[in-house]
Amino acid sequence: MASVHYTCLMIIAPTSENISIAGRALREGSIVAIPTETVYGLAGRIDSEEALRTIFAVKGRPADNPLIVHVATVAQAHALILATERSIVDLLAAAFWPGPLTIVLRKAPGLSDQITAGLDTVAIRMPSHPIALEVIKAAGSPLAAPSANRSGRPSPTMAVHVENDLGNSIVILDGGPCEIGIESTVVRALADNLLILRPGVISAEALASATGMQVSDPTGAEPLRASPGTRYRHYSPNAAIQIALTVDAALEAVRVHGANTMVLAPPMYLGRFIGCFTGSLTEHDLYAELRRSDDLHVDRIVVLCDDSLARQPALLNRVRKAAGEGNEEDAGT
Ligand code: AMP
Ligand code: MG
Repeated sequence: MASVHYTCLMIIAPTSENISIAGRALREGSIVAIPTETVYGLAGRIDSEEALRTIFAVKGRPADNPLIVHVATVAQAHALILATERSIVDLLAAAFWPGPLTIVLRKAPGLSDQITAGLDTVAIRMPSHPIALEVIKAAGSPLAAPSANRSGRPSPTMAVHVENDLGNSIVILDGGPCEIGIESTVVRALADNLLILRPGVISAEALASATGMQVSDPTGAEPLRASPGTRYRHYSPNAAIQIALTVDAALEAVRVHGANTMVLAPPMYLGRFIGCFTGSLTEHDLYAELRRSDDLHVDRIVVLCDDSLARQPALLNRVRKAAGEGNEEDAGT
């Protein structure tokens, strides 16, 4: 008799029934991959030590890299932090939540050390994606949710990226491509100033003008230096990444390295690279293009970072990390 093969479909549509199923699974200590407006997250309840352990194990994430807690209400955020921190979270939440801003604040007692990696602070964000908010409500608790990739891989911006990295044993709610495509801005909120720990689409200028506070941005765009053929640890595809500062330098790199090279460039330049594998260098597309480079089996990616990128510090930061620069600043997994 012919055997029957069942396909395990773990990418599921975000119907209200499936969101309830995801909520029930989370309440029982399972983990679920969810869409957010930044990247897909691998979510577990903050009070489930088992779920938190599974998140670290499935991602292969180092235990000393703390998790971001995702909330659906400001009241949930208040419960996670010292009472003295409430006014600053209220100020930032009024301007930027729900949205791609993660706020690091002094934590209330009782939060799992798995979330905070033993620090006395906790990172909190209210995502704007309606499915993420519905899942948090259905789970009945804030959710710890790092990006849903294997550690060191580019963050997932589509459900299929999660499946490619984590296999078919994780339920993935499919929210389509993420609207933003790179991770949130992470900011440490101190009494009278803000310190950007990771750049994102919410800029230092936007933070300063919304709060009137001084904003330090040690992650901001310094002058670029070329990074020929460097290997890398974060956001990394299989190919080596080389940064070119001009169209001519990118063309020269393609000429030297040959047909198995892919060029990532701002969309306005792509016409200059006809005949090469090309991809669009934008915040929205970067991670998907890095993953596509694996499918194309290219052995080198030339990333054209000319002056037009000067006002996109978050994109430059991710390109540099992919190219192996400054990895000591951020585990970024
Ligand atoms: P991911 O969830 O993979 O996007 O990464 C979360 C980012 O938030 C990492 O860069 C963490 O180092 C950072 N993070 C989380 N919690 C804290 C914290 N308490 N203090 C400083 N950074 C944090
Ligand atoms: Mg990550």
